[in-house]
Amino acid sequence: MKISFRSRLFFAIIFLLLVAELTIGLNLESGLRTWINHNAENELYRNAKAARELIVLAEKPYTIKEMDNLADRFGHAIDLRVTIIDPRGVVLGDSELDIDTLEQLENHGNRPEVKEALINHRGTAHRFSTTLNASMLYVATTYPHPDGMGVVRIQMSLADVERIIKKIHLFLLVAALWGLGVVIVIAGVSTHLLTRTLRSLAKRVNSFGNKGGPVTDEISGISGSFDQITQDLSNTLTSLSQEQNRFETVLEGMVEAVFALDSQGNITLVNQAAIELLEGSGTLLGQTFTQVIGGPEITELMEKAAAGGQGTRQFDLVNNPKKIRLLARVAALKNGGSVAVLHDISDIHRLEEVRREFVANVSHELRTPVSVIMANTETLLEEWEEDDHEPHPLMEALYRNASRLTDTISELLTLSRLDAGAYTSNIERLNLKSEVALQIEAAGLSNNRSQPIAMDVNSDLQINTDRHALKTILSNLLNNAIKYTNPDSKIIVRAKEVGDNIIIEVEDNGPGIAPQHQTLIFERFHRAVSSRSQTVGGTGLGLAIVSSYIEIMGGKISLIPAKPSGAIFQITLPTSTTH
Ligand code: ADP
Repeated sequence: MKISFRSRLFFAIIFLLLVAELTIGLNLESGLRTWINHNAENELYRNAKAARELIVLAEKPYTIKEMDNLADRFGHAIDLRVTIIDPRGVVLGDSELDIDTLEQLENHGNRPEVKEALINHRGTAHRFSTTLNASMLYVATTYPHPDGMGVVRIQMSLADVERIIKKIHLFLLVAALWGLGVVIVIAGVSTHLLTRTLRSLAKRVNSFGNKGGPVTDEISGISGSFDQITQDLSNTLTSLSQEQNRFETVLEGMVEAVFALDSQGNITLVNQAAIELLEGSGTLLGQTFTQVIGGPEITELMEKAAAGGQGTRQFDLVNNPKKIRLLARVAALKNGGSVAVLHDISDIHRLEEVRREFVANVSHELRTPVSVIMANTETLLEEWEEDDHEPHPLMEALYRNASRLTDTISELLTLSRLDAGAYTSNIERLNLKSEVALQIEAAGLSNNRSQPIAMDVNSDLQINTDRHALKTILSNLLNNAIKYTNPDSKIIVRAKEVGDNIIIEVEDNGPGIAPQHQTLIFERFHRAVSSRSQTVGGTGLGLAIVSSYIEIMGGKISLIPAKPSGAIFQITLPTSTTH
């Protein structure tokens, strides 16, 4: 038969409390017995001393008659047996014996209490009296006798003491029974409370560990759950350590320098690539990232990360003998802190510079011969037409391609100038509506467009910016909108002020730009493949020039697909350009 946990607990508590109760009871009983005995002994000793004083006052020599009389009277007065013994051990008086029987009494000189009294002036003895069938207590003391030291002894039956002790036993038994009742109640209540707490603990622990397994009682349920939790924890630790190994391998295998930063920007973790990149900067851990890398770009990126964002910037590594160009990306982590990744793009950057220089040089070299070809072709065509000849297809093709080459070279040279930072902007206060109107008119004329281009610009809208840059941007976007849509398409230019920015939108309802081309059209020479762009001539450099100008002006451009079709080029320019 299986005893439930609750019953086991109940009986264990009862057992413990009973043991405690019994121990207390026994100690109490023994303490009381000692105390009563002690008190009785003291009482008898006091009486013995009183008897001594009476004997001392009696007339000498001490005769049996007189001493027995004294013993009788004193014994009667104190209701105890009094015995007076002379120095030889002969009993001179006894309160409970006749004078005649005294002479037949055996010598009392060998009684333990008498012997002890003669040495210590106080003697005590406990003996069982078969005559009285009770334990006796004897206390004796000495008195001066003309022949030496006599002894006076007081005797008391311990039956009274035993009676008192029996009463105490009874009292203790009653108290123990009451105690048992209280113990049962306490055990019941505490078992109930304890099992209730354990049950709720078991329930909670089970919800983690013992996934529905059989639970016999609270304790075994909890222990089963703890086993399960320990197993789960060990599995989790194993998989965490595997995960960490994987993470470390990936981190160390990366060519990019990786830094984990705490919320104060202190470096808490780096990989080998980071140590190699910043060789000579001392121990990286513990230093702040801005201290180690430096430069305004990093400060800006760290500010973005601190605000919970992320950002990417390119810059040259300062305070480093090697000329290193870095692409840095800093991103905030969800639980505070951030992660920074530095990519050494020095080689790509050098190639980029070489490419730029090459394009600039080639364009520069080609400009003069191409202008000569263009001028000569124009002259040839004019002379041919003056002689009333039919249009010459070869000459016209020559003219078309020469003018296309001229356009490409001029756009390449513009881009080279912008790349080299050679463009100096001239900031003027402009009325945006007038500027937009001028560009709409110019674009319409140059493309022979009959359909008007709509405009939604407040006539008060002013902007401090570079006129040439604004003109180039608007003209490129408007020409594209006309070129890549049908002649009867709707085109609209909108502008509005939002905070410290002016947002300009050029929207058309043409075919729009396919998603795969949307991010690429701002790249140089990228032309979205469509039936229209194949028939319409272009260099693929217009939007790259637009992007460069916007960057110089501190703005940004984005492409938003129009509904149901078409493209919206949205430009955000600061109301006041400081460049
Ligand atoms: P280009 O016009 O000389 O080809 P751009 O850089 O101005 O070069 O434009 C790049 C490409 O983007 C174009 O070839 C065209 O495919 C696409 N594009 C630009 N504007 C539009 C527009 N409004 N609608 C559709 N496609 C456009």
